[in-house]
Amino acid sequence: MPKTTCLLAVVLALSLSGRAGQTSSPAVTEAEAIYADLADSYGVISTIDSGLFSTYQGKDRVAWERVYNQKRKQAADKLSKISVSGLSALDARALEVMNRHLRNDFPEQFRDENAPPEHCQDAQRQNLSMTSLEGALSACFTELGNNLEFEGKHVTRVSALGMLEEISEEPRRKKLFYAFTPLWDAVNGKDGAASPYRRLLPLVVSAAGGHGTSIDSAARTIGVSSREVESWLEQILDAWRQVDGGEMVEPWNYFYRGGEATRALSAVTPKDSFVSVNQRYYRDLGADLQQLGVLYDLEARPGKAPLAYTDYVTRGRLVDGKWRPTVVRISGSYATGGLGLLNELVHENGHAVHMMAIHVRPAFMDVSAALFDEAFADVPAWNTYEPAWQRKYLGQAAPEAASLRGLLSSVMLDVAWALFECRILHTPTADPNAMWTDITSRYLHIVRHPEISWWAIRGQLVQMPGYMVNYGLGSVLTADLRQHTREELGPFEAGNPQWYSWTGDHLLHFGEEMDTAALLKQFLGRPVSPQALLDQIQRIAPRK
Ligand SMILES: [Zn+2]
Repeated sequence: MPKTTCLLAVVLALSLSGRAGQTSSPAVTEAEAIYADLADSYGVISTIDSGLFSTYQGKDRVAWERVYNQKRKQAADKLSKISVSGLSALDARALEVMNRHLRNDFPEQFRDENAPPEHCQDAQRQNLSMTSLEGALSACFTELGNNLEFEGKHVTRVSALGMLEEISEEPRRKKLFYAFTPLWDAVNGKDGAASPYRRLLPLVVSAAGGHGTSIDSAARTIGVSSREVESWLEQILDAWRQVDGGEMVEPWNYFYRGGEATRALSAVTPKDSFVSVNQRYYRDLGADLQQLGVLYDLEARPGKAPLAYTDYVTRGRLVDGKWRPTVVRISGSYATGGLGLLNELVHENGHAVHMMAIHVRPAFMDVSAALFDEAFADVPAWNTYEPAWQRKYLGQAAPEAASLRGLLSSVMLDVAWALFECRILHTPTADPNAMWTDITSRYLHIVRHPEISWWAIRGQLVQMPGYMVNYGLGSVLTADLRQHTREELGPFEAGNPQWYSWTGDHLLHFGEEMDTAALLKQFLGRPVSPQALLDQIQRIAPRK
């Protein structure tokens, strides 16, 4: 059957040429090389702006911005001249992906969303563009959120949220909670229709235009409609509402109620142990973070990005026939220890190993969808709430029920924020405080406080409205991926040496070469389902 053999050979050659970074179209190959330089110059400039280093390969920021401007122009020029007709399917996809990133992520004038040029005060101006208003409100999280005044000291937002789990006296918790007031006021004023946040929403909705919001793209990622997303989120919150116990709690006590495991383990989770615990754990999963060369910038300092994130410095690619590996960096502000923050760093390292595992041609060297990206980072991170993990990496474990409640109380807040954003982007003129109060009192049993904008404690809400769905709905995918991994590979709560190579081969290495919905379906062997998360929630129900 020579025909079949021939076809097979063509398919094989095509897929190999994709893997090896070569394409059949010289024009695409040429554009792709420029695109790779553009992406690298972007990564280097954002790293310089983050404060991790001030020069790279002997060039300073000014020189790198020149490279960026030049490559941006060349890439736009080359890409605009390529017609999709006559291209192979993979080349056509490469063209589409590069054009999309050029539009959304590599603006003509360099701009890093983790270091916007605006100031918090700018948010009061009435005529800002969406991007500038997002930038100004993000700056509020740096200027005010990282400078909360509590008991004569300044604490970061991240530390404050950790402290709310640990402080034993309720009046002090209440005081710390209200230390967020300047941030809430900067974001949402007195909740009037002209507040900065309420002015931002219609801009976000109209910018989404035909291609949809982050919620629509998250829905597409798992192959459902955005209506279905909303009903899944409600279903999950409702399951939690039923097993939670039903006792109403003040918002400043919500974190403390979920913080029993954090408190039980506070002596064995000092911040100085974070990096070494991560190294040991990931080594046991088959990923050596030191060997992978992940760069860390974890000290809190003035002006630092208000939320933890992981990003590329440079992306892996073939140089003279040899693979030059990806370089990633993690930025965080760890002024205090604690299980919640340790979990956050395990999550960031989850992003890092994901990015390091991508091994494809330049056009596809990025994570394929925000929802998948966030959900995957939690696959290893959720283990920090498992007794087996705690025993092995901390030397002692909190009671299982307390750990589970700790994990789920923070997951449920994410789900609540996701539902909040689904609803408010649907009705951008609605009152955000009333909407948040309805969701949190009904599902999380949190006492109603519509007079304060306490939902505004996550930077993503203003930096990228709609992004919280990637955590809230992401938890559905995390639970599903974890369950499937256990079925295929066995337990990995306390390490599993096959985990990284197996996950890399089956899930991570494709980058943007494959459509995420198709990839997830191929990996799971069925559509994504909320059942695994619903089962997880049932674990805290009192045993009958
Ligand atoms: Zn993340």
